[in-house]
Amino acid sequence: MKWFVPLILISCSQIPIKPYRSVDPELMPYVKDFERDYNLSLEKVTARFYNLDLIMDDRNVVGICEYNYHDNTKNKVFIDTKYWTFASGIHRKMLVYHELGHCVLHRKHRRDKLKNGCPTSLMNPSILKARCFYRNEEYYITELWENRNEL
Ligand SMILES: [Zn+2]
Repeated sequence: MKWFVPLILISCSQIPIKPYRSVDPELMPYVKDFERDYNLSLEKVTARFYNLDLIMDDRNVVGICEYNYHDNTKNKVFIDTKYWTFASGIHRKMLVYHELGHCVLHRKHRRDKLKNGCPTSLMNPSILKARCFYRNEEYYITELWENRNEL
């Protein structure tokens, strides 16, 4: 059984996608940053673009982690093609880190907020405002790692 952990919603639908085991070249710089930040080697990670409008009822979903509880080396990240074209670099980074947070660090969503009103975690179900991330980037990178293995 497979579960999907989209950025905005929790959904349990199945995605009829061929099995990939690769990273799209456009996503690679963000995956590399993630590897460097956490001293990981993600040779087996899969991260691809997909038109998520085709498979998600909620058009606000811009990223999905297809999480395989039986073999989480088969987890796959899917990023919405349309969102990516207009997202800034910082939003792209937050999105990729969020989905890798699910798929690689086994993080769940986290909805609480900091005293400054910003979400406590990149694992907030909605993408953070850029100013929240800019001001606290080191904190967010650390938080993502420190709460790993929740799934
Ligand atoms: Zn999510």
